[in-house]
Amino acid sequence: MRLILLGPPGAGKGTQAALLSGALKVPHISTGDIFRSNIKRQTELGKMVSGILESGGLVPDDLTCKIVKDRLMKDDCHDGFILDGFPRTLPQAEMFEKMLDENNQRIDAVINITANDAVIVKRMSGRRMCSCGKVYHMVSHPPKKEGICDFCGSPLYIRDDDREETVISRLKTYHDQTSPLIGFYSRRGLIIEVDGDKPIKDTYEEIMAALGRKA
Ligand SMILES: [Zn+2]
Repeated sequence: MRLILLGPPGAGKGTQAALLSGALKVPHISTGDIFRSNIKRQTELGKMVSGILESGGLVPDDLTCKIVKDRLMKDDCHDGFILDGFPRTLPQAEMFEKMLDENNQRIDAVINITANDAVIVKRMSGRRMCSCGKVYHMVSHPPKKEGICDFCGSPLYIRDDDREETVISRLKTYHDQTSPLIGFYSRRGLIIEVDGDKPIKDTYEEIMAALGRKA
């Protein structure tokens, strides 16, 4: 099963991709995670992309496509994959289609997770992280003591990606550059639209039903 997840930042693509990856037994490939891990390890790629991502922009198409191509060559992608965060632009979608054609492969479905901008800004800007891996939310899952992790007592921080101004800028980029992909994949009859404002479990069950799988 080869899937692409589309949808604005904060619509729950990562969460759904992780659930689907477990159920369908194919890897979850997040270009955002690949970039962040390279930034953390201060690789050449990391240095190149860190400034771009901080300003809410997009990594150049050629570079992104090369990274995805390298990742999809690995053995674990033999039976399929779930792409989260790629393709992001029309040129990327076109390059990717060519890449798959050359390998006689095709995408089975493109899941478009819709979500309301105002809900996204509220959801993301309330998120707080701890270095131990716990994630909190000021409204839906606050820590007992403000700004402190319940689990390990460390101070919480806001991930750069979650800052309100960054979220707004990423939403604008999404509407300008990524939403045209909905038309691109609609014309190929691949789009499955689901509501990302619903609870995680409901959205997941909707996707599985659309794929003809039991959740
Ligand atoms: Zn902690």
